[in-house]
Amino acid sequence: MVYLFDEGSAKMRDTLGGKGCNLAEMTNLGLPIPPGLTITCQACNEYNALGKRFPDGLMDEMKKALAKVEIKAGKKFGDAHNPLLVSVRSGAPVSMPGMMDTVLNLGLNETTLKAIIAQSKNERFAYDAYRRFINMFGDVVLGMEHKHFEEILTAKKKAKNVKLDTELDAADLKDVAQNYKQLVEKDTGKKFPEDPMEQLELAIKAVFNSWDTPRAVTYRRISRLSDTMGTAVNVQTMVFGNMGNDSGTGVAFTRNPSNGENKLYGEYLINAQGEDVVAGIRTPKPLAALGKEMPEMYGQFADIAKRLEEHYHDMQDMEFTIEKGKLWMLQTRSGKRTAAAAVKIAVDMEREGRISKEEAIMRVQPEHIDKLLHRQIDPKAKVTVVAKGLNASPGAAVGKAVFTADDAAKAGIGGRGEKIILVSVETTPEDIHGMVAAQGILTSRGGMTSHAAVVARGMGVPCVAGCEKLKVDVSRKIATVEGTNVVIKEGDTLTVDGSDGRVMLGEVPLVDPELTGDFEELLRWADSISRMHVRANVDTPKNALDARKFGAKGVGLCRTERMFNDPDRLPIVQEMILADTPDARKRALKKLEPMQKGDFKGILEAMDGLPVIIRLLDPPLHEFLPKLDELLVEVTKMSFHKTDDRVFNEKKRILDKVRELSEFNPMLGHRGCRLAIKYPEIYEMQVAALFEAATELKKEGKNPVPEVMIPLVGNVKELAKLRALVKKTADGIIAKSGVKLNYMIGTMIELPRACLTADEIATEAEFFSYGTNDLTQTTLGFSRDDAEAKFLQIYLKEGILTDNPFEVLDSNGVGKLVTMGVQLGRKVRPGLEVGVCGETGGEPRSIEFYHNAGLDYVSCSKYRVPIARLAAAQATIKQKNASKKKESFGDS
Ligand code: PEP
Ligand code: MG
Repeated sequence: MVYLFDEGSAKMRDTLGGKGCNLAEMTNLGLPIPPGLTITCQACNEYNALGKRFPDGLMDEMKKALAKVEIKAGKKFGDAHNPLLVSVRSGAPVSMPGMMDTVLNLGLNETTLKAIIAQSKNERFAYDAYRRFINMFGDVVLGMEHKHFEEILTAKKKAKNVKLDTELDAADLKDVAQNYKQLVEKDTGKKFPEDPMEQLELAIKAVFNSWDTPRAVTYRRISRLSDTMGTAVNVQTMVFGNMGNDSGTGVAFTRNPSNGENKLYGEYLINAQGEDVVAGIRTPKPLAALGKEMPEMYGQFADIAKRLEEHYHDMQDMEFTIEKGKLWMLQTRSGKRTAAAAVKIAVDMEREGRISKEEAIMRVQPEHIDKLLHRQIDPKAKVTVVAKGLNASPGAAVGKAVFTADDAAKAGIGGRGEKIILVSVETTPEDIHGMVAAQGILTSRGGMTSHAAVVARGMGVPCVAGCEKLKVDVSRKIATVEGTNVVIKEGDTLTVDGSDGRVMLGEVPLVDPELTGDFEELLRWADSISRMHVRANVDTPKNALDARKFGAKGVGLCRTERMFNDPDRLPIVQEMILADTPDARKRALKKLEPMQKGDFKGILEAMDGLPVIIRLLDPPLHEFLPKLDELLVEVTKMSFHKTDDRVFNEKKRILDKVRELSEFNPMLGHRGCRLAIKYPEIYEMQVAALFEAATELKKEGKNPVPEVMIPLVGNVKELAKLRALVKKTADGIIAKSGVKLNYMIGTMIELPRACLTADEIATEAEFFSYGTNDLTQTTLGFSRDDAEAKFLQIYLKEGILTDNPFEVLDSNGVGKLVTMGVQLGRKVRPGLEVGVCGETGGEPRSIEFYHNAGLDYVSCSKYRVPIARLAAAQATIKQKNASKKKESFGDS
């Protein structure tokens, strides 16, 4: 249950947690690490399983290990002359920034304090450490409110008429410490614990307990992390960065976490403890300044940073402390980075020969690059910058100012759905519910490694931090900009640019990003590795062009009904639907044909040389007509007022038709191929428009590759009948045109029966494309239009479902039908091309499933194309690695 740092290694992450395993690894590399021990994650899990009780023997094991730490440190825990003070920190296997709690300076009491004063000959330092300890112990272990401690400190500063903590002297801090202790007694009804071992026991329990705090649970839920990992506890010899001007503390990254530049990057504070940097309480100096202030320390640190990056083959995020001119390393881990930095670092490291192309691809999270595809401020826009802060998390955002996390949660994503910018002095882990709800974050304090910056980068929310000119008054919900007359009130619209730290009033126009440079290169590598390719779901020529720029290798789904909804066309579509005879319908369709032809031509041209799947009309026809209840109101009103008979009769005719078309379950009703079984002329028109367009392009020397897709097929006879119709129309037009044009006819697979009879259906289909939106709806019996609003949230909260099945493929259920359909289909038609065009086609975990199921491609909306390209490559690499592993176990 307990390991000394020199007993562990980086391979023991699941046992020692991230922090513990890296402290062990660094210790074994011979780096200067203050000695310590790690209590395992398994001990935490057992503690929770036992109903928050230590497993038998844990404290005995811990004490034995602590005795060895004492020897290494040359100090004794609780000793009256040479006391060992420790830090107690959590460390889960996966880093959870700011989520878990830390206690520093533990072991201090009235006796050891005297020893520290005598040893350090620095009374001020000792009382400062003591009051910090009581404060942290009160917050973290005793569950007291931080603000009460803060009030005591503020009152003292006011009484002394000073601004900074550092301006308080030893006597002041002694007073503060005594007041803190009284506060503890008043708040908890018990004296502050004097026995260091009792302090340690309580602190370990507090770390274990913090695994289950709401903020930790929220973070895990958002990041999809398992609740069963547990956290380790690290008990480590304290070193002090606040022992004077030859001491200090800092955090640093081996490369720039914001843009990926290969340059040591970080911040530090002289005469401070680590928490001051991370909490954003004082604004630190850039690390480069340490090179001038303490060149030797800087040199040592830079060497260690280089060694660590070479050792781990990845960008490191490190914490260090300088105690009276001696450098100590307190932590290293793979650094969190923006999507842009992740891409640049991965590509650079491949070029530097540190990692392979495959590793570079695996280093970037597909969901993360979504952020790179987010909007930027239009370079042509005229902007007036009212304040500038640090570019803490890139991307631009527009929203209304709110001043508290609670207000943000109510107004923003997950609340009323408004676009908001959370404006605050600084953020703390308690604010996470507000941060996830915001489009952007703006803080007046804190550096690049402050809580707001770290968390915003992790979540990909644009953030401007440390905007010092901004004076935020949270109680009045107002902010002003120093030296100007700018006032930002609640509800005022702001634009923040987390890429360069600019803050602007009002809404500034934003533009879509482009794929260039390293990003393009990485995706090219991805394409060269992937087995599947990626197409796009588009229904306009502009979207087809954009998708192609994002790397789409064709169109996987063109929903032709979207073209029907155009305001110019809707009246003609309605005329077609309202037609009483086939001839009248054909006349209306004839009017539509040239319009559809124009659209098809544009899309085929944009995707010249690449396949374009045109899906024939799918939705129920009443979707193109006015709503029944609205019509009823109108007709009823007309019948009470004098209305022209002709007008009234026309309205009444529409009402009757809408009534006739209305269904109890329209999504299970007269739609998809069922429309064309009743009204074949609709598909005839669409096919004619498509092949007129394609043959014209062919004559113009272009290379259109049309593929015709029939929706909602559940019975091979439906497909056989419609295939014959498509073929007759298409071949007729091709023959008339005199050009040679190849095309395919296939079907969507979006009903369970289609999967179950895929072998029959494949006799008539040259390709399959899974429509997982309908397939999920019909397999689960969940309405795709209602489930989310009515009950899905409860299902997710209760853990009945882990994901929304319309977003992430339900691999256990719908996935089985997908696999079955592929196997049955290819049994009768071995070369059958199979893809997916439902929403799940752009979702990385689903993409992995589709790869393993043997699909040829996935198709998704244009913005998801780069994500899907990366995910498809990762799926290929993962499968390759898994089969290599199998082979090495002799299990081919
Ligand atoms: C589907 O059902 O998954 C699909 C792509 O078609 P639509 O969403 O248009 O019904
Ligand atoms: Mg569908």
